[in-house]
Amino acid sequence: MLLLNLNQANGQESNTPKTIDLGSGVWLKGDLHVHSRHSTESSNNSISKIINFSKAVKMDYLCITDHDNHVNGDVAHHTWTDPEFKSDSLLLLYGAEWTTTRGHGNVFSANPYDHQRLFDVRDQRDVNIGKVKKSLNIHLSANHPSGKDNFGFSYDLVQSIEVWNSAMWTKNANAIMIWDDMLSSGRMMTGRGGSDAHHGTPTASEKPSENTYQAEYNYIGTPTTWVYAKTRSLSAIVDALNHGRVAVSANPYSPRVEFYADATGTGKFDMMMGDNTVSTGKPVKFQVQLMGNTLPNEMYSITVIKNGKTLNTYQIKGDAPVITFTDIPDLKGRTYYRVTVEGKINDYPQVPKSMALSGKMVSLSNPIYFNFDPKF
Ligand SMILES: [Zn+2]
Ligand SMILES: [Zn+2]
Repeated sequence: MLLLNLNQANGQESNTPKTIDLGSGVWLKGDLHVHSRHSTESSNNSISKIINFSKAVKMDYLCITDHDNHVNGDVAHHTWTDPEFKSDSLLLLYGAEWTTTRGHGNVFSANPYDHQRLFDVRDQRDVNIGKVKKSLNIHLSANHPSGKDNFGFSYDLVQSIEVWNSAMWTKNANAIMIWDDMLSSGRMMTGRGGSDAHHGTPTASEKPSENTYQAEYNYIGTPTTWVYAKTRSLSAIVDALNHGRVAVSANPYSPRVEFYADATGTGKFDMMMGDNTVSTGKPVKFQVQLMGNTLPNEMYSITVIKNGKTLNTYQIKGDAPVITFTDIPDLKGRTYYRVTVEGKINDYPQVPKSMALSGKMVSLSNPIYFNFDPKF
């Protein structure tokens, strides 16, 4: 049971609800977009190197997403059967980057699946792709949705969208715009991150490539996607991704934002990111808190976004920065709220040049929804 006593936290209202009551779960962090040596344009990035690095920076899970077109769709006999594709502690999702003429998407699955079938229909009409995708029971996610290789398919095919691709935060403005459009149109679509890292640091016996420099700027964990999973398992990670219980932060050492609501007015927070409920037309109390390695002397700027527009911004600092606010979701129409946190990015010594690229974006939340149609 996640039961936080917030009396010690520096809540800005004296009547801050005391507890968060959302059933048991655990926050797990990982990277959902990484290329290994099975992607032909990657360099010095064996699976064992990726796994060892991920363990060293205390990741919980990882999805290695090699380009499927580099192996004619047969990721099952390349990435997944690589003898190095195993770990005693890191949870390894099954997936690949679906690399098509009309753009790229990532597949995330708790179990091996027949990726070849998805590869084989990549140039067909969306209605046929949708049937195959459904029969495979996989989570499909739109990658880097604007710019080169943007996801040129119907967003009805996906459960999530890569709203934070690589350490270069400023390149994601159009992805955020597309996300807000999809949310505003009634789609409860999870926003997630992915480093899209291709290049590792060469070992003594390896030859550097012309892209080796990239490993200092962008590598595993830039950004880091946090999921609130019911258990420490692959299926719980995919469930959390489906459900939107997801926050993204600049790197594994940066704090994550958590976002809750007390929809029933009981004084207990009974909703979190990804949750959807029917609006009563009464005021709802929300809480935003920064968790993890907050920098106590730095000021953080929290922006609350309601239906794609800024509702308010707050400046906070301290060991466990918390704000609460109250708003009335529309009684009849749909309303969603999401938050972003800007400030100083924590140092990431293993990827030392990433912080400068990340700008001020520390963490972003997924939405809390009112009056969305669960059967949309
Ligand atoms: Zn791509
Ligand atoms: Zn990629």
